[in-house]
Amino acid sequence: MNDHRSLLIHVCCAPCLSGIVGYLKSLDFERINGYFYNPNIHPYKEFKKRRHHVRMNEKKFGLDGFEYSDDYPLKEILAGMLEADDRCEFCFRNRMESTAKIACENDFTHYTTTLLISPYQKQQLLIKVGNEMGDKYGVEFFSEDMRRFYDLSREISKKHDMYRQGYCGCIFSEYERYGPKDSA
Ligand code: SF4
Repeated sequence: MNDHRSLLIHVCCAPCLSGIVGYLKSLDFERINGYFYNPNIHPYKEFKKRRHHVRMNEKKFGLDGFEYSDDYPLKEILAGMLEADDRCEFCFRNRMESTAKIACENDFTHYTTTLLISPYQKQQLLIKVGNEMGDKYGVEFFSEDMRRFYDLSREISKKHDMYRQGYCGCIFSEYERYGPKDSA
């Protein structure tokens, strides 16, 4: 059993990490790593752009380590989203499971996600899924509501020219953001 508290952060993009990284580093974790894993980001060019901006700013975040997953099973993710009653639940489950598993394999005591900063995510659902995956892999989910840092993330990302995407990630959210609104 590990006596030291350590944290693996699931990172969706550079701006969201920029808002919470200072706060997380001020807590009593002895080791904090980042983990970029987002096969839900469409199209692939957008996925690469978000990943690139995390890499470019990695030093500024000052974490103890960073890992990037290139997994991008497009057909599997799209099929899962289409079949799910709630596509966001499927999406959270996919990303939280991968993060909790990596946290467990690398002896972290806790894991969390930058998604907890977003006022646009279904936070209660995210916390439910995060806790479930934490229980499954024996890693505690750090589930604090960090939406109070959202404005800070906008400020920092603007100052450092970090790419901020215009929609959540999947092709469905892109359509909701930019598609016709006249059917509402
Ligand atoms: S809207 Fe966002 S959280 Fe929901 S399925 Fe799409 S990418 Fe995932």
